[in-house]
Amino acid sequence: MPRGTLPEWPPQITEAQRHSLTLLATTYALSHGLIYLPVADVQPPAPTSTIHAPVSLFPSPFPRRWFEEARKLQHIYNVLYAKIAMDDDFLDRVMGEDGAGRADEFTGQLWKKWKQLRDENAISQPLHLGLFRSDYMIHAPDEDKPAGLKQVEFNTISSSFGTLSERSAQLHRYLFAATNYYGASPLLSSENFPVNRTTSGLAEGLAEAHRAYNVPESYILFVVQPGERNVFDQRWLEYELLETHSIHVIRQTFDELAGSAHVDPKTKVLRVTLNHSLNPSTEVPSIEISTVYFRAGYTPTDFPTPVHYDTRYLLESSRAIKCPTIPLQLAGGKKVQEVLTQPGVLEKYLTGPEFTSADLAAIRETWMEMWSLDQSGNEGVDKARDQALDLVLKPQREGGGNNVYKESIPSFLDNLAKSEREAWIAMKLIAAPTDMGNYLVRAGGGTEGAVKSEVISEFGIFGWALFGRTDDQEHIKDKEVGWLVRTKAKESNEGGVAAGFSVLDSIVLV
Ligand code: ADP
Ligand code: MG
Ligand code: MG
Repeated sequence: MPRGTLPEWPPQITEAQRHSLTLLATTYALSHGLIYLPVADVQPPAPTSTIHAPVSLFPSPFPRRWFEEARKLQHIYNVLYAKIAMDDDFLDRVMGEDGAGRADEFTGQLWKKWKQLRDENAISQPLHLGLFRSDYMIHAPDEDKPAGLKQVEFNTISSSFGTLSERSAQLHRYLFAATNYYGASPLLSSENFPVNRTTSGLAEGLAEAHRAYNVPESYILFVVQPGERNVFDQRWLEYELLETHSIHVIRQTFDELAGSAHVDPKTKVLRVTLNHSLNPSTEVPSIEISTVYFRAGYTPTDFPTPVHYDTRYLLESSRAIKCPTIPLQLAGGKKVQEVLTQPGVLEKYLTGPEFTSADLAAIRETWMEMWSLDQSGNEGVDKARDQALDLVLKPQREGGGNNVYKESIPSFLDNLAKSEREAWIAMKLIAAPTDMGNYLVRAGGGTEGAVKSEVISEFGIFGWALFGRTDDQEHIKDKEVGWLVRTKAKESNEGGVAAGFSVLDSIVLV
């Protein structure tokens, strides 16, 4: 698709219409749980106020063809990452003490805990649960070349904004229903607004794991960060689990779990005592946990002391199903993404009658060129210097704000120790279509209202997979469950809604 087929965006509206849309958008967001906790209100005992999430006033045009392609590919990606997570040798080589785990302290710590679990024969649950999000941008290098759908990254832990993205899609439907967007664009018509049912889809993944565990009165444990502001994105999953599946959720931080979590040495059952404030009696009952859903543990700051890693180890050693296990978390590393592009690696995983050569080609088609900075002596670094303006460098981190871009690359490389090169990959920049615009409303809004900006959108597809190896057979059950659009001002290299770089958006298919 040449760039030319994307429409002028956003459509023309008057100042008065912009004000009306902003008022409708923020009040809708506040009344429909498209919200965050304000900075000042994250502390116990209980919050008393919220702010609306950052949003765009218009949905962003997105080619129908790529929307359908990304949804179709999700099944293949779900299976691919499930298989990687079950390949101990591969993960040892790529992420272990002779791979990225040597150069990157955090990766190394996680890998060591996983190694210890295996050495001590302490893995008692064969199933893994992944709630994934595969992120893409449209690559439109110039008018003459065909555009394509290119993968930014594949997330295997704490993939967020599922339930809020459903609500931002509903917000745009509402604005359309309420105002017809003032007839500003013929594209804004209901058949071009795709449905987005991430809440039920992601909760179904968790419920599937809970049912596989097969103790009806057990709970799902959400491991959360202290001071989390994006709590409603998580709460909507809890409500869905309770209302649709009659499954109870308990939320605790790593700090709380250090005292409250116990694994029975014989049965390996994980039990957690309820927060004392919720249950002041001295005979605090403990609750059996079916599934551990990590919305924390993806960044080194979640593990400030060795005790935090020990708590992770304890949870991993239990019979509860982990979302994700350590190997599944490691499989989501940027390094794995790069190694997958090397000859023969994809073919190893996507074999058998289920996957055709066209499937493999379609997956490859979503990749930008990547290489490791420790490739062949100085070759990887030299190449990165030469091509710096077309590149992003990425370490083994999640959550945004960790990458090095373009003109910052040469001086960064000057200061990067040889021993740290292995922790980094170089990736060609995706050239998103230019001159797309939107009206962006920051979290809480403030006095700015909606600010017209030139923007770049990142499109994510959610999926889940419940998988494991039993009797030497691999079993994988998976599903594609909805999408997310985050839109950022063009000047910003990074995305990341929580990090404050982008807003929640949705799509209108073109
Ligand atoms: P994280 O796990 O921290 O989210 P990402 O790989 O998603 O790491 O990088 C963060 C952001 O950097 C992305 O949301 C995107 O905005 C930008 N980015 C990453 N890779 C590329 C790329 N190849 N081309 C253009 N932008 C990119
Ligand atoms: Mg990520
Ligand atoms: Mg990302």
